[in-house]
Amino acid sequence: MRLALEQARLAREHGDLPFGAVIVREGTVLVSAENSEGQLADVTAHAETIAVSAACRMLERRDLSDCIIYSSMEPCPMCSAAIFFSNIPRIVYALSRDDLPHIFRQRKVRIAQLAQDWDYRPEVVGGVLRQEAKTAFDGIQLPLRVVPRYHQPVHLRPQG
Ligand SMILES: [Zn+2]
Repeated sequence: MRLALEQARLAREHGDLPFGAVIVREGTVLVSAENSEGQLADVTAHAETIAVSAACRMLERRDLSDCIIYSSMEPCPMCSAAIFFSNIPRIVYALSRDDLPHIFRQRKVRIAQLAQDWDYRPEVVGGVLRQEAKTAFDGIQLPLRVVPRYHQPVHLRPQG
């Protein structure tokens, strides 16, 4: 988990919101990833989706049922689905959205509920190193939904 928190700090250093994720297999770190939404200009480039993709490519298989994912923050519904599609049996996270109500709005759909909708019933554990994880958000005050940077239109230009 400490490695995931380190990745979160790196993301912030690189201009992104502080989220990080690490996938461990047989006691060894397979991949670690930082949130890169801004860096890659890609809304799907969350730490967890990057980590899941990288782990699948590394192992050359779509099944990660022998892996554990650690995330600095409760995975969002997109990341939760990616994690569950890859059959990861155990998800450990530090902060939940409720820990930072001044930044994140409440969500109706949470990872614990989504986990119950999957046949293999993944185990979800939250609150690990919670206080330590909070420090990555020090100084961030505005609710994300009103930060203008995140609401700039994306202009897709045809090549050539
Ligand atoms: Zn996500």
